[in-house]
Parts: sequence; structure tokens; C-alpha cells
Amino acid sequence: MQLIDGKALAKKVQDSVATEVEQLKQEENIVPGLAVILVGDDPASHAYVKMKAKACEKVGFYSITHNMPDTISQDEIIATIEMMNSNPRIDGILVQLPLPKHIDTDKILEVIDPKKDVDGFHAYNVGRLVTGLDSFVACTPLGVMKMFEEYNIELQGKDVCVVGASNIVGKPMASLLLNANATVTITHIFTKDLKAHTSKADIVVVGVGVPGLIKEDMVKEGAIVIDIGINRIEDGSLVGDVDFKNVSPKCSYITPVPGGVGPMTIAMLLSNTLKSAKQRV
Ligand code: NAD
Repeated sequence: MQLIDGKALAKKVQDSVATEVEQLKQEENIVPGLAVILVGDDPASHAYVKMKAKACEKVGFYSITHNMPDTISQDEIIATIEMMNSNPRIDGILVQLPLPKHIDTDKILEVIDPKKDVDGFHAYNVGRLVTGLDSFVACTPLGVMKMFEEYNIELQGKDVCVVGASNIVGKPMASLLLNANATVTITHIFTKDLKAHTSKADIVVVGVGVPGLIKEDMVKEGAIVIDIGINRIEDGSLVGDVDFKNVSPKCSYITPVPGGVGPMTIAMLLSNTLKSAKQRV
């Protein structure tokens, strides 16, 4: 069993982004800029945004965070996004999810200029991804693809079971895998017999938010298991969606939680923002 070290790979990606940022500054006088919109006081969202801002600073980006109260109106959020759309110093706009219930998330995401949609959630980018065209791709599944590449894990012709079908994790993950010529099965809460699908797969990618959902008898010997889940359990520790202790001995490769997919998400956000900034040239 080999651990896929997301922390080390994320550092490698960040170092290479930092080098390119320096070059972009020297040669084109461009400093990539990221705007984050944070609504409400959800502690997890605040922690994520803080981590993103710190990562931006580390690689030499310009970054701003718009902190907005829970009571903010949808129109005010839209106005802020429109301001960022036309701000030439901003290459990427990120709206931290989830948004409060009175806000229509789909509507908000549609307002972001697709050319600055570094989270890859806009329907324009989703459509381009599904069609196999160049696009901004959601950072978490993009990070998983980077892991496959780094560890020389071949995808063509492989049976891959994606567990979880959300717009930000499972669906873009499945599209990327399909574009890489894998045979993809997408499962979700209404799947009748989850084990029947996961146990046949060469690769299981799980992102659902249920601690320990994937158990030892649900994966085949030698499987590759990617755990996207991040769950805080009663004792305060972070665990994934895979029963790591019992599943890992069966795997050829597995990602740990923490230190697996999590750090890759921020690294790919930096990479997407750099990609956007390069399009200014
Ligand atoms: P979501 O609630 O939007 O979607 C969950 C998906 O899982 C749905 O498609 C649902 O049908 C499916 N599901 C739920 N229970 C299931 C079950 N028992 N069996 C099969 N499928 C089931 O959640 P999300 O935003 O996609 O996030 C999923 C998980 O990934 C969470 O733990 C979240 O914290 C984590 N996440 C991690 C990162 C990262 O950077 N590593 C990024 C985003 C989300």
C-alpha cells in the first residue's frame, strides 16, 4: 500500500506557481489577483478563507476578502461580484460556499465572469469541461487528477466508481475521468447497492461527507482509493469518508485524511488563478 501524499504534492504545485508568479511580475508586470467573497460567520468557511488568503500571500498574489454579514441582500453580493468582474487587478473570483439560505447560490455563481471563475462552478465552464474543452475546472477534482498524474496512475480503460454526485465534487470528477477515457460509474444517496459498484472498481473516488462510509468489504484487493471527504467527528479530529484503518491494507494506493486531497484543493485554486492571470498577456 502506498500513501498518496497530498501535502507534499500541494507544496510542489505551490512552489511552481510562486516561481511563475515571479516570472510574470518580472516580464509582464502582472501580479495575479484573487477576490474572495465570504458571507456570514460559519467557522469552517472562515477557516478555509483564511487558509486561501495565506496561500495567496505565500505565492505572491494580490488578494482581497469581502467579508459580508449574514443579513446581506442578494443584490449587494451581486453588485460586489460585478465590481470584481470589472476590476483589472482581479483574475479570480471565489464565492465561499455555502451561502445563507435566503441567497440563490446558482444565481450568484452565474454572475461571476466565466473568465474569472477560478472555482469552475459557472455553467459556462461546466459545459466546456463536459465537452472536453479547455475550461476552469473545480479545484478539488482537479487536484485529484493532479494526484493521478503525479503517481503515474493510468486512467484509460479503468473502472472508476465515483461516490457522491454534487456539482462541486462528484459531477466534475466524473467528467474529468470520462475525458481521461475511464469507464465511470457515478453513485449517490439513492444508489440501491453501493457496494456492488465500489467493489468492482479499480479506482474508488469518494466525496460524500459520511465518516467511514467505505468499508473494507466494499473495495477490491489492490484498489486505488481517493478520499475527498472531510468530517469533523466528536473527539474533534478530522476523518474522511473511508474507514482508513481497515480499507488501506487492501489498497495499492490511498489518500489519507488529513494530508490527502484537502491541501490539493487550495493548490489548484492558486494554479487556476495563475492560469487566469496569464490570459491577461
Ligand atoms: P454534498 O452534500 O453537496 O453532496 C454529497 C453527495 O454525496 C450527494 O451527491 C449525495 O447524494 C451523496 N451521498 C450522501 N450520502 C451518501 C451515501 N450514504 N451513500 C452514497 N452517496 C451519498 O457535499 P459536497 O459539497 O460534494 O462534499 C462532500 C464531501 O467532500 C464533504 O465531506 C466535504 O467536506 C468534502 N469536500 C472536501 C473538499 C476538499 O478540499 N477535500 C472540497 C469539497 C468538499
